[in-house]
Amino acid sequence: MDLRLGEETLAIRDTTRRFAREQLLPGLRERDERAADPAALRGELFEMGFGALTLPEDAGGLGLGPLELALALEELAAVDASLALQLAWHNLQAELLQRAGGGAARRWLPGLVSGERLVVWAAADGEEVLRAEAVETDWRLTGLKRWVGGARAAGLALATARTAEGMGLFAVELPREGVSVEAEPRALGLRCTGLAALRFRSAMLPGEARLDGARSAGELLAELRPLRALALAAISLGLARGAFELALAYAAQREQFGRSIDRFEAIRFKLVEMELRCEALRGLLWRAAAAASAGDAAEAARLAEMAKLMSAETATFCAVEGVQIHGGYGYSREFHAERLMRDARALPLIDGSSEAVRESLAVRLIGE
Ligand SMILES: Cc1cc2nc3c(=O)[nH]c(=O)nc-3n(C[C@H](O)[C@H](O)[C@H](O)COP(=O)(O)OP(=O)(O)OC[C@H]3O[C@@H](n4cnc5c(N)ncnc54)[C@H](O)[C@@H]3O)c2cc1C
Repeated sequence: MDLRLGEETLAIRDTTRRFAREQLLPGLRERDERAADPAALRGELFEMGFGALTLPEDAGGLGLGPLELALALEELAAVDASLALQLAWHNLQAELLQRAGGGAARRWLPGLVSGERLVVWAAADGEEVLRAEAVETDWRLTGLKRWVGGARAAGLALATARTAEGMGLFAVELPREGVSVEAEPRALGLRCTGLAALRFRSAMLPGEARLDGARSAGELLAELRPLRALALAAISLGLARGAFELALAYAAQREQFGRSIDRFEAIRFKLVEMELRCEALRGLLWRAAAAASAGDAAEAARLAEMAKLMSAETATFCAVEGVQIHGGYGYSREFHAERLMRDARALPLIDGSSEAVRESLAVRLIGE
């Protein structure tokens, strides 16, 4: 098993790392204060082809694999997890549209590849569902979907909705009559994701907006699950690594009692533990990516879910330790440590809470 990264893979990682440090970092604190949508920066990433990282080249994408997707998201999230999350959703929804195929893919994919439209994900969570009713060949959507990342800037939403027969998958062009984007209460972190609620008041959609048909919504979503878990895990790894690197640099320059605080055993051991957890997570994530690349869907799903679970906890651990290592300064807006801690806390909640992922792994291991 050769874990050395190839030239193309390294180029993706290094380009993204440079972009994150040179373009995302300046102005980040101010964007976070204002909860500003990073539209211009997102536009630059789209121009670099980041709107369709994994789509095949004949569909306009960069044709990259799961490992490259993970590396790009890790690098973005090491600096700015909000933008990394928007990019992840966009790429995953482009994948979903491509796999659904048909008229909807022909109509909307080019705008997603170019970045002309940002696409967001509005999934049914538990009891909170949208309802879709057939009206001749069209569909009428009703209901409220809260906490949709990117909704404030979206040009397209992919949504799951309950139909008379089960679950349907729909593409909703935005803005649209009958669909309003409603502000959410101020969030603790990930403040630049453009989080908002989508309210559907008998919104009429053309028949071609329904994406499942030849393949069921469940089948399409299950097929994409490993890549979704992998993308979320990569973002958490990036955030964890970002917190570790900032803490390492701070500990080297902060002096107390005549020496830098990285000479104190308590601080050194914290830093070692942070690095250790990041590397262990990276191992799991890369194994999941390798299984996905090899087409071993079951193994990819198992490992990617494990990575998603471990990653959310690793991000929270590293971000909290990062604040601790920064001491009182870490608790202030003067340093990035506190933002990373606020951002990290969202990760065990998103796209499958840690409780839900644990249960899914238990079912896989033991059964219902
Ligand atoms: C920053 C942020 C961004 C988000 N972005 C998006 C997005 O882009 N698109 C989107 O569709 N959604 C998004 N969400 C929504 C997110 O996926 C949901 O918040 C999540 O699914 C949990 O749903 P809930 O908030 O209703 O919590 P609940 O389902 O009410 O859960 C509350 C608690 O109970 C636990 N719980 C619930 N059911 C079970 C069960 N059966 N067994 C054991 N424990 C259970 C949960 O794990 C949690 O700890 C986002 C949320 C946040 C915070």
